[in-house]
Order: sequence, then C-alpha cells, then structure tokens
Amino acid sequence: MKNIVILGSTGSIGKNTLEVVRNLKDKFRVVGLSSNSRWELLAEQVEEFKPTYVALNDSQLGEKLKRRFPGNHLKILTGNKCLEEIVLHEEVDIVVSAVVGAVGLPAAIATIQQGKTLALANKESLVMAGHIVMSLAKKNQILPVDSEHSAIFQSLQSGKLSEIKRVIITASGGPFYDYPEDKLSDVSPAQALKHPTWQMGQKITIDSATLMNKALEIIEAKWLFNLKVEQIDVVIHPQSIIHSMVEFCDGSVVAQMGMPDMKVPIQYALTYPERMPLSVQPLNLSSIGSLTFKKPDMEKFPALRLGYQAAREGGTMGATLNAANEVAVQAFLDGQIKFSEIASSVEKVINNHHYIKNPCLEDILTADAWARQETKKCLM
Ligand code: NAD
Ligand code: MG
Repeated sequence: MKNIVILGSTGSIGKNTLEVVRNLKDKFRVVGLSSNSRWELLAEQVEEFKPTYVALNDSQLGEKLKRRFPGNHLKILTGNKCLEEIVLHEEVDIVVSAVVGAVGLPAAIATIQQGKTLALANKESLVMAGHIVMSLAKKNQILPVDSEHSAIFQSLQSGKLSEIKRVIITASGGPFYDYPEDKLSDVSPAQALKHPTWQMGQKITIDSATLMNKALEIIEAKWLFNLKVEQIDVVIHPQSIIHSMVEFCDGSVVAQMGMPDMKVPIQYALTYPERMPLSVQPLNLSSIGSLTFKKPDMEKFPALRLGYQAAREGGTMGATLNAANEVAVQAFLDGQIKFSEIASSVEKVINNHHYIKNPCLEDILTADAWARQETKKCLM
C-alpha cells in the first residue's frame, strides 16, 4: 500500500489521477489533496477518499471546508506554503504534482528533498529550474506524467539513457496547425480552447495552440533524460496515437502508442516498474487508417523556436520564458491581447532579461518575478 498526495486534485490531471486510484484501491491510499479555489469539489473528493490532509491556498475557503468537516479528522492547511507543507508528512510515499504553473516548483523541490517519489505533471517546475530539481533527485525518483515524457520513459525500458541517439517528441499541432497564418492573430480564446485530441486545463490548452506546450516539453525532456538540445526533435502527428519515440544508437526507433488518455501515463508513473490493468479505449489501427507526420512550422508558431532557444541557453531563460508565457496566456484568456501577441511578448521579455548562466533558486524566483512584471508592462 502506497500513500499518495495529489497537488491540484481538482484539475484535469488531478481528477484523472483520482480515477486511476479509485480503480487501484488496494494499492494506493490518498492521504492528501489540494486545490487553489474549488473547495466544493475538494469537499466531494474528501468525502470519497478520506485523506488526512488537504491544502487550500485561501484561508477563507479553508474555513468553509472546516465547517463542512468539523472535528480533528481532517487537517486543513492554508496559505501560500501549504503545497510545500502537505508533502512533508512522514507517511507520504508518492506526490503527484498536478498543479499548473510556477507555483509547483517549491513543492517539487520539497518532495525530492524528503526522498519521496514525484509523479510529475507540472512541467513548469523543470522548465524553470531543471538543473536544481534534477541534481537533487535520485534515479527514477521523478516519474514523468506528461504523455510524451512517459512515452520516452516507457520506450527507454528497452535501452539505456547512454544509448539514446535522439528523442522524437510528437505534437498534435493544436487546433490551428492548418489555419491560415494571416488569420491566426484574430482567433478567439473559445477557438483556442478547442483542442482536437486532448481534454485539458485552460493554460495547457492555450499552450498547445501556440505550440508553447511543445517548447516547454523540449526543456522538460532535456532535463529529465539528460539530453543535448540537438538530440530533441519535434514532429507534428495530428492523430496523437504515437506519444513519442526514442531512436537508439543502433538505429532502432521505439515508440509508445495508444489512444490519447492521460490515465495511462498517470497510472504508469504510480505503478512503475509494474503495469496494472486499466480500462481504456483499445487502439484500433485499421479504423484509424493512417498515422501522419509533418515537420513543425517555426515561422507560423514562433513559440517552438523560443523553446529551442531557451533549452539551448539554459540558466534563467526557462524561468523567464515560463513566467512571461503564464502572464501572456492569462491576458489572452482575459481578452486583453491577440493570440499572436502571446509568443511575440514572450520573445521580447526573454531577449531583454538579465541572463544568469548558473542561477540558484533565488535567482530563478527573481527572474520569474521580473518576467511577470515586464510582460505586464509590455502588454499594457
Ligand atoms: P488544470 O487547470 O485543470 O488544474 C490545475 C490544478 O492546479 C487545479 O487543481 C487548481 O486548483 C490547481 N492550482 C492552480 N493554481 C494554483 C495555485 N496558485 N496554487 C495552488 N494550486 C493551484 O490543469 P491541468 O490541465 O490538470 O494541468 C496541470 C499540470 O499538468 C500543468 O502543469 C500541465 O502542463 C500538466 N499537464 C497536463 C496535461 C493534461 O492532460 N491536462 C497533460 C500533460 C501535462
Ligand atoms: Mg504533453
């Protein structure tokens, strides 16, 4: 029996994780759940999974939850350190980090420092501070939940890290891959939120439309698998059936495939090195008919080029790119800027920032705060 904490249990990955756990009740016990603001959904999850701890940022919402669960059975943590605090409890074995954004970084570091397994969906923490996070982690202490990285990790079960020639990360291309380039600047948030193959939270859905998600995933792969940027290729694969591939030094290319369903990589991260039965839609290749591949267009989707640039330059580039993007995506969702301004503002901010080659955590957090302010200024 493993005890797990889910950071961001009310989000898309969080809910999928609870579905996986619901079907593996004899293997996992949920000891902690967290949400930013959706306290009512969190309360339903508490009723079903009976964790010992919950974390809620807002102390007023914490009070509401307290009234719903009086007594001492449920310990409610609030405030801006609650994510870091909830992972520290001794009984915790695995932390699933399914929060969105930079807010996941301190809890990821705390999890690793406590020697607990980190099932990582929150790619932003590696994008910001991959060199710090990976240097603290032991082998296989971080298990990827992101479908592409899980595919690479699964493909790597047939070879060693040192035998990798390159990895090929697949991208659906998002809703606008074939959209006329001159009309891209006028697409609405509602259009951008319609992802062709995956159901996800708002921020990552917009990142998928700009291809910033792939940019972040290049940086994530570089850190997770200790790769040189030249070893990371991206290919557009609209059907999202091949989740990514590893080319080994002997020319063999090993891929992981399946219908797009995040429960597969989530469960693999939880049960690794074992596999457990999971009820998913089976892959029927003859009904799919064809799998297609295209070279990514970095002129039309400049975010991808920025991702390669940030991966190559390292240092504070990842944190700056990520923070600028978080602000720009929110501004787009709020109707303040055009779709094409997301990448253009990120580019301006990363190219103006005070670059530090070997940043400590404080430098990273300073770069993050600076980039948020600078992006807001640039969007005014
Ligand atoms: P989501 O928006 O659906 O859920 C986010 C969760 O984080 C919610 O529970 C929310 O309450 C919590 N949260 C948000 N802001 C917070 C804050 N300031 N403090 C504390 N908690 C906060 O997002 P999602 O789609 O589930 O994505 C979560 C992470 O997983 C992201 O990093 C994303 O890139 C990654 N990811 C998601 C998918 C997917 O299919 N959804 C796939 C791969 C990777
Ligand atoms: Mg992904």
